[in-house]
Amino acid sequence: MSSPSNLRLIFRGLTRRCAVCGRGGLTDRFLHLRESCPRCGYRFERKAGHFVGAVGMNTIVTFGLIAITLVVGILLMWPDVEFIPLAAATVAVAVIVPTFFHPIAKTLWVGVDLIIHPLEPGEAFVDSEEGSLQQG
Ligand SMILES: [Zn+2]
Repeated sequence: MSSPSNLRLIFRGLTRRCAVCGRGGLTDRFLHLRESCPRCGYRFERKAGHFVGAVGMNTIVTFGLIAITLVVGILLMWPDVEFIPLAAATVAVAVIVPTFFHPIAKTLWVGVDLIIHPLEPGEAFVDSEEGSLQQG
């Protein structure tokens, strides 16, 4: 079984698709990633604590966007920086970004993990380059 390129794994993760076969629709509720891919059967949580990396990525992205919000807000209001609008924008980013990025962070982490720990035989039932289902 050939595996997808690293770029494809990242792209599939960013677009909330299965890193192995490329299938979308991996969430059964907005924020809840299915246990495994309905198409290829790949189990997303390979071991307990697997998604700590996704939480880390979500934290990094959120804090990065909070910092950008603060810097841009201060620069736009300079020299009369007003606390309330700046705080409101920052709090909005701090609440909205981690909520909406959460499912993306999880599928992205699945792709990153597959770069670090490639797919092992029996973990999925798909030829990832061709997209055709196979046994094994
Ligand atoms: Zn799949």
